[in-house]
Amino acid sequence: MLRLSEKMNRLGTETAFEVLARAETLAREGRDIINLGIGQPDFKTPGHIVEEATKALRDGHHGYTPSPGILPLREAVAADLQLRRGVEVNPERIVVVPGGKVTMFFAILMFGEPGAEILYPNPGFPIYESVIQFSGATAVPTPLLEERDYSFDADAVLDQITSNTRLLILNSPANPTGGAVPRAEIDKLVAGLVDHPHVAVLSDEIYSRISYDGREHVSLCSYPEIADRLILLDGWSKTYAMTGWRMGYAVWPEVLVEGAIRLAVNCHSCVNAATQFAGISALEGPQDAVETMVNAFDQRREVIVNGLNRLPGFRCRTPGGAFYAFPNIEETGLDARSLQKRLLEEAGVATVAGTSFGHLGEGFIRFSYANSIENIERALDRIASLLAD
Ligand code: PLP
Repeated sequence: MLRLSEKMNRLGTETAFEVLARAETLAREGRDIINLGIGQPDFKTPGHIVEEATKALRDGHHGYTPSPGILPLREAVAADLQLRRGVEVNPERIVVVPGGKVTMFFAILMFGEPGAEILYPNPGFPIYESVIQFSGATAVPTPLLEERDYSFDADAVLDQITSNTRLLILNSPANPTGGAVPRAEIDKLVAGLVDHPHVAVLSDEIYSRISYDGREHVSLCSYPEIADRLILLDGWSKTYAMTGWRMGYAVWPEVLVEGAIRLAVNCHSCVNAATQFAGISALEGPQDAVETMVNAFDQRREVIVNGLNRLPGFRCRTPGGAFYAFPNIEETGLDARSLQKRLLEEAGVATVAGTSFGHLGEGFIRFSYANSIENIERALDRIASLLAD
């Protein structure tokens, strides 16, 4: 009889991948499925980035690289941080990993153990809660409320901090809500954190380049007060349509960077070499593809938010960033999971129930609008017909 470790029972999952698998099964059976479930850009990686990776392979970059990433890549990340966030970062503090997820896994493992408390957004990216529980720490949800456009309330978050709090996870612009926390709220939070020097902060800014209506991206790394305990998570997946390449980066505070590299050596050694060259090209090359993609998301955002608000029982806030709409569906009379199931099985529209993002997601459904306007309109029509039956 095999005896797995007890913590395996505490490891959760990301339902979006299950929905994707079910949607693919239905499509193979001949059903026409519109996928508004999975959170990845529907664009191709820009050609010059692909070109750089193939060149790297042709040039013989087939071996291991330094664990935290090749120096030119870390320098390119540092230059990008200077350009877009106005901060100077020593490339020695940058650790390149196989996807943004790996940074959160490492950060949570570094602080999580029985007795520790970790604050995380709820509804939020499901991996936070899953890995916190896996680590043995207590997962303490910070509620993101519809009536605040899914921002947190800084005073409420500060009130949740105890002497056992080790790590505070923030995510703006956010998955699954599309919420973007306003500067005033972040100012207030950081001012309060000064009184809690034992709390590290993981700021997941993977959607930093995807925001709308001229909204500035407020990066936690622009606050020197917390620079010595801030872990900044960002990457290439969403910005450059590179989800399948598997690469992200973090800026670690000086005291934590050695531990992060040790975790990387134990886990994956390094990110594959050709992808790292592609990463340099993405950061240093033309950015027009990013702009084109964000403009397309913006147009789709309008179509989906207006359409969702016309559906009986739905009401939808306008998301400030990322590519998700997170309507309240309570008045349909269905719970989130049942509606997700009916939308997929009966209307052929893949979405993800709000409860996949934490218990505070009940009454909501996530729509990813990383799909064409035509498909979004077809999906809305199908849902309208389903609800009318
Ligand atoms: N953080 C958030 C908030 C996300 O939504 C995602 C992906 O959906 C990630 C991190 C993970 O990104 P990556 O694909 O680079 O691991």
